[in-house]
Amino acid sequence: MKLEIKNQSLFIEKAYINGQWVDADDSSTLDVLNPVNQEIIGRVPNCGATETNVAINAAAEAQKKWQKSHAKEKASILRDFYNLICSNQDDLARILTYEQGKPLAEAIGEIAYSASFIEWFSEETKRIYGDVIPGHMHDRRTIVIKQPVGVVAAITPWNFPSAMLARKVGPALAAGCSLVCKPAKQTPFSALAFAYLAEEAGLPKGLLNVLTGNAQTIGKALTDSTLVRKLTFTGSTEIGKMLLKECAKTVKRVSMELGGHAPFIVFEDADIEAAIAGAIAAKYRNTGQTCVCANRIYVHQDIYEQFSEGFVKEARKLQTSQGFDPLADQGPLIDEAALAKVEEHVADAKNHGGQVVLGGQPHELGGLFYEPTVIKNANDEMLVSYEETFGPVAPLFSFSTEEEVIERANNTPFGLASYFYTSDLAKSWRVSEQLEYGIVGLNTGIISTEMAPFGGVKESGMGREGSKYGIDDYLEIKYISLAGIEE
Ligand code: ADP
Repeated sequence: MKLEIKNQSLFIEKAYINGQWVDADDSSTLDVLNPVNQEIIGRVPNCGATETNVAINAAAEAQKKWQKSHAKEKASILRDFYNLICSNQDDLARILTYEQGKPLAEAIGEIAYSASFIEWFSEETKRIYGDVIPGHMHDRRTIVIKQPVGVVAAITPWNFPSAMLARKVGPALAAGCSLVCKPAKQTPFSALAFAYLAEEAGLPKGLLNVLTGNAQTIGKALTDSTLVRKLTFTGSTEIGKMLLKECAKTVKRVSMELGGHAPFIVFEDADIEAAIAGAIAAKYRNTGQTCVCANRIYVHQDIYEQFSEGFVKEARKLQTSQGFDPLADQGPLIDEAALAKVEEHVADAKNHGGQVVLGGQPHELGGLFYEPTVIKNANDEMLVSYEETFGPVAPLFSFSTEEEVIERANNTPFGLASYFYTSDLAKSWRVSEQLEYGIVGLNTGIISTEMAPFGGVKESGMGREGSKYGIDDYLEIKYISLAGIEE
């Protein structure tokens, strides 16, 4: 299929290994489908262990040189890469909408967000500082330097195919590492276009490899390799736990951005209109398919009816359509499994006394489209209260005290994003400190920026992406004990 993009070179049906665009060794391919109509957009090579090992060796070779390049050289290439992402923003966004289904406006936003990580880390590469520590003996000085971890394996999901890759590529390259990336099978083209632009920016061959193909085989070759020193993964908690176990065999460094189950609390003293707007943004972005989407909306009993009415009114306005429709606020779900999960959660909520006050069924467009849905009288027995729905379903729970709602909010193995609305300063601090989450959105439903550390606690993972902390995940600390200073 020919995509409607200006620069056709960005649409590549090959894997990228050691600076070469290649097919699988046995020439087999995988189809990539448009979630709007299940038509084939294109085909990518079905790579396996052999191709993965070639990529790992190339990455190891390239990394040796890259770690010696000085900060300004790395910064300059990353800056050029950033500029190229910006100048190709429209095409990159269109590729993203074709394969992922999200509204084009959201895709354009995602590309800007991706670019921001490359820009940020092009700057941070100049700030990889060490330390000089006072000596513990007369003739000693202690010096600390930071060095790149080495070859990094990056496995990324389909919900933000561009941004989740950029959040790993930016800090890894800035730290002096090389990468072997494996994008999700549903959305490989955004990653391949990204690699094309990195090459255009002058990134030396072998530093950024993109493998398409079988997740299990490629994943195993990556985790088995002693040359791969780190795995950075964004995806489900289930696969993350499995990969953690695999990485234990060679004691790799790991960063894990796993599932979430975000509480969104609206206290009785909140600005209700602002809370509604925040909840709509936090719930329905990307058709509810983000790990920071509001999963449990807790509203104080005194304002429950008022909030619910306003929330339904706003949710009703959301237009569901294919992503290239300029009016679209919501696209299709990613695949049949995603649709089945949403249907299961809604049916279960109804069985447990939930009242569907909006949506609650597949959209009349058919296929993978589902209506924006609101469920009142949600309770803690429902699947939606403890499992990630990953769809456009907003369950509204009622609560009566601060203590109660904090306990319910924390009663989950997950700990990624949380949100709450209040106008009380003391409560702002108290609740922020007590929420067992890596991220707290206080009077906001949108928390992502390259300048802040994104990441979770508990079973939501480990490590942080973005901010001054983000580069640490790709650096080792070395201490040099310098002796013989005194004569
Ligand atoms: P989701 O449920 O959102 O698709 P997954 O955790 O299944 O999340 O997928 C996230 C990423 O992990 C994708 O790139 C997927 O291909 C990859 N993946 C899935 N299974 C494995 C595996 N066994 N080994 C390595 N990667 C895997």
